Amino acid sequence: MAAQTHLFPCLKDNFGVLIHDPQSGATASIDAPEAAPVEAALQKTGWKLSDILVTHHHADHTQGIGELKNRHKCRVVAPRAESQRIAHVDETVGEGDTVKVGGLQGRIIDTPGHTAGHISYFFPVDKLAFVGDTLFSIGCGRVIEGNPEMMWQSLLKLRALPDDTQFYCGHEYTDANIRFAKTVEPNNKALAARADEVKKLLASGKATIPATIGAEKAANPFLRADDAEVAKSVGLGGSPAWKVFAEIRERKNRF
Ligand code: ZN
Ligand code: FE
Repeated sequence: MAAQTHLFPCLKDNFGVLIHDPQSGATASIDAPEAAPVEAALQKTGWKLSDILVTHHHADHTQGIGELKNRHKCRVVAPRAESQRIAHVDETVGEGDTVKVGGLQGRIIDTPGHTAGHISYFFPVDKLAFVGDTLFSIGCGRVIEGNPEMMWQSLLKLRALPDDTQFYCGHEYTDANIRFAKTVEPNNKALAARADEVKKLLASGKATIPATIGAEKAANPFLRADDAEVAKSVGLGGSPAWKVFAEIRERKNRF
């Protein structure tokens, strides 16, 4: 049976998301921005929390862990490289490891850059990816602990997932990301189409994710730093892709 997901807002602009295995009843919360909305989501779905899969140590992804673990005795899985900075961790994972949520099997992809030990979770059978603050729709996370080259490599790993992979990110930033992306690629038709779609989704109170990797590749400037036109548009024609990426990221920081 296919995995089920449930997406809901947390904090100011974080996403909470549950992944559920209908066969076994197992349910994982991807990160735990705060406990109350996760509890409400569990109530609404009738699912029982068995696991928390942490992407990185930032408080807006971890501060609900203690309360949820106390109540549900769930297992907490976290990036090995950041386990010292996250409370209540039961199991640490890194690149190539697998994690089971009941019968669902996720693969760990190291995606450092936003934080030094950031990881993403990819469930190949259901083609679901949980990418935390590495990739956003039409954007990417700020490069805080790593460097631009590292972040670019992480984004390439996510870009290499199957086109029909649906990805869930940590924040609803899509609208602002689109406004910036248009300054890099004003004539990108896929971006214009995504802008229309996002406008409609937001107007009807809906989330703009999940999005697919395939659609994202065509419209997200941060995944397009190795496109000659994108390089030219930021004045870096012929430069290595990571430098183009660094320039786009720098411009977004100042936007
Ligand atoms: Zn973060
Ligand atoms: Fe965050």
